Amino acid sequence: MTPAALARAVATAWRRLPTSAGRGGRPLAAAIAVLLVGVMALATSGRGHADDGANWVRIDSFQVNDTPVEQSTAYPVPYVSDCDGTDSPPRCGPPPAQWSIAKRPVQFCTFVQNRPGWLSDAQFRDSVRQAASTWNKVEAAIGVSYVGDCQGTRWERRNGVNEIAFDDERNVLTGATLGLTESSIAWAPPTNPTIRRIDEADIIIESSFANVPTCLTSTITHEMGHALGFGHSSNPADLMYASVDLSHPETCHLAPTDSEKERLQGLYGVDQLPTAELPPDFAVPVGFQVNLPVNATDPEGQQLTFVWEQLSGTSVEMNSFGALMSFQAPNLAGILQFRVTAFDPYLHSASATVSVTGYLSQGKLTYGEVPHEGGFALVIFGGGNSLDLVYASGCPPQSATFWTTDAVGRFVIYLPGTTVAVVNAAWDAKWGGEPIPAGTPILGRCR
Ligand SMILES: [Zn+2]
Repeated sequence: MTPAALARAVATAWRRLPTSAGRGGRPLAAAIAVLLVGVMALATSGRGHADDGANWVRIDSFQVNDTPVEQSTAYPVPYVSDCDGTDSPPRCGPPPAQWSIAKRPVQFCTFVQNRPGWLSDAQFRDSVRQAASTWNKVEAAIGVSYVGDCQGTRWERRNGVNEIAFDDERNVLTGATLGLTESSIAWAPPTNPTIRRIDEADIIIESSFANVPTCLTSTITHEMGHALGFGHSSNPADLMYASVDLSHPETCHLAPTDSEKERLQGLYGVDQLPTAELPPDFAVPVGFQVNLPVNATDPEGQQLTFVWEQLSGTSVEMNSFGALMSFQAPNLAGILQFRVTAFDPYLHSASATVSVTGYLSQGKLTYGEVPHEGGFALVIFGGGNSLDLVYASGCPPQSATFWTTDAVGRFVIYLPGTTVAVVNAAWDAKWGGEPIPAGTPILGRCR
């Protein structure tokens, strides 16, 4: 950008409200409000030695806008540490500031004190959760972890905790400002930085925020964008555009644009979402032990963690061992629905759901019985599906084994307790998706 263009950008960067529309009785009709501003010229710098021995220069109250340097208005969205014409390197400029790998995903906690009266504690936390989830959908090697309420009673600068709070007696928000992010940024070496690091970011939200929930969530999401390393975009379609109109909630964007997602990838690198897949919906006789394996992968091969939830049906006790969840179907017929969500280390996620129908089995043996204490027996099955056979045998599904013969007389095995689909492939193929015919001879063993 040429100096002249830069000066123009700075001059038009702030769309402020008249002060009559400020704190307290802000009329919605006049409410074009600035999402983030740094009117306090509090930036102070100091030097110190970080753990890694590098000679770091640190700005303790790095305001993303206005004085001293950190406002940036350009398109595509600039990085928070880009120079904006009011200051010069090494305070600003390349390389862009980012969180160290050890501090990703960036962990935030909340203070519910001083929230606006129309907003409940739970609604506020939901807004923060939604904002974090929005950033975690971007396929960049960064994420946001919302950990619930903070310790203590108010946010503090430079305490090593990333806090989201409403403005308090310190009045850091003035005029029509809806939100502000204060970041602590350090660089090294002091004169020609090769690394620039975000050490802490605190987000402060207007305590008399108007009752426009979409715009509150938008503001929190926007501020998180600053916390992750963005300045302001000059494109009104961008989440990182500096202002919104509270009387037109459609100006309160809820997610970064493709251009902003690319910029985040430019800052941290690409990291793709994992995938998760559950078996197709299936049915089991009531009372059966069920193993539910999720087939999940991470494109980068990173370790995944899993959260299992029961969405509907008679509540069961879920025993989860990561990628495998097991439970005992209730003794009542009915439909149970489950969801699993796989998370990669940046909290990118993928979900899958499955319905499991518990039914009253009609399965019975018309000849013989399978000994429960061990050993084989030949029985004749009265017909039904494979699980009806298990039900009819009375054997524990986890340890039972059955055999039949294929067209050329070879044994085909059925292990109801296996979690490896291929084990029963020949058995399933033999029946071709149809019930096992009545009168089929089966060799069975309970354990
Ligand atoms: Zn902003």
